[in-house]
Amino acid sequence: MLDDQSIEHKLREILSNENILINEPLNNHTYTKLGGKADFFVTPTSYEAVQDVVKLANKEELPFTLLGNGSNLIVKDGGVRGVVLSLKKLDDITVDGYEMIAQSGARIIDASREALAEHLTGLEFACGIPGTVGGALFMNAGAYGGEIKDVLKEAVVVDREGNLLTLPADAFDLQYRHSNIPEKGYIVLEALFELKPGKYDEIKAVMDDLTYKRESKQPLEYPSCGSVFKRPPGYFAGKLIQDSGLQGKGVGGAEVSKKHAGFIINKNNATATEYIQSIEMVQKTVSEKFGVKLEREVRIIGEDLE
Ligand SMILES: Cc1cc2nc3c(=O)[nH]c(=O)nc-3n(C[C@H](O)[C@H](O)[C@H](O)COP(=O)(O)OP(=O)(O)OC[C@H]3O[C@@H](n4cnc5c(N)ncnc54)[C@H](O)[C@@H]3O)c2cc1C
Repeated sequence: MLDDQSIEHKLREILSNENILINEPLNNHTYTKLGGKADFFVTPTSYEAVQDVVKLANKEELPFTLLGNGSNLIVKDGGVRGVVLSLKKLDDITVDGYEMIAQSGARIIDASREALAEHLTGLEFACGIPGTVGGALFMNAGAYGGEIKDVLKEAVVVDREGNLLTLPADAFDLQYRHSNIPEKGYIVLEALFELKPGKYDEIKAVMDDLTYKRESKQPLEYPSCGSVFKRPPGYFAGKLIQDSGLQGKGVGGAEVSKKHAGFIINKNNATATEYIQSIEMVQKTVSEKFGVKLEREVRIIGEDLE
């Protein structure tokens, strides 16, 4: 594998200086405010640059990690080796008739607001989901009865070889908080959402109601990764955790939220290790008390501190 200087040199052939950060602390880029440093943190501003970074990573066997808004990720304290790719600078949203093209680095909240501005209905459910469009497609994000699957018509992706492909929605096998994007290794560059004409006041009323529900029930005043666990069949994760008496408990600076038991908050400068130990503590307790295995919705990446 190339040494760090050679990697930096090759990245500078693809990206301008302001789009390459070295030893970038990833707690600046995650909702939990957790995570060590990325060796190289790159922010391409064109699809071609994304393709070139993928091809470089393949050719030189560089470890390569994709980050959205970091709202469904825990980065470990030792950080991430190799190249971390962020698409935050590819964030255009355009509307043509009832169709919206949103680049993957755009926030899905902004896509939802743009739909409202254009009097289009279909993305109201996403008005409080703090991820990017790419991250939302990866997770088939959803809330309050809606999900990405309902509105996605097609998406432009880069495959593992660096090819640009336009694929129909059904190519992503979208299910509850699941897509086949991890196994296919696609990088989503843009999504085409098919929306329907609606009335501004009605769309806004739905969004206001969902925002009220979120703000009154979720501990949005603290860093977190949202609901830590998937809904186990036949149960609600939050209720099981609440009934296990775990609210207010945790390891170090991490704590099971007293406001919403499905959330673990970074209450007091937690480390990623403490946060992960808190997750494991919840899984163990719920399994012992109720015999239910809580599966993580949130992904964990990176390395432990040595
Ligand atoms: C307060 C709070 C509330 C939340 N509420 C909800 C909710 O109601 N519903 C819900 O579904 N989720 C919710 N979440 C979780 C999270 O916001 C969503 O899962 C979101 O879709 C993650 O997007 P992201 O950009 O932050 O992805 P990240 O967390 O950065 O990444 C998640 C995964 O997606 C991959 N990824 C990111 N971008 C791309 C891309 N362009 N192409 C391919 N893969 C990509 C990453 O590699 C990673 O594996 C909430 C989180 C928080 C903190």
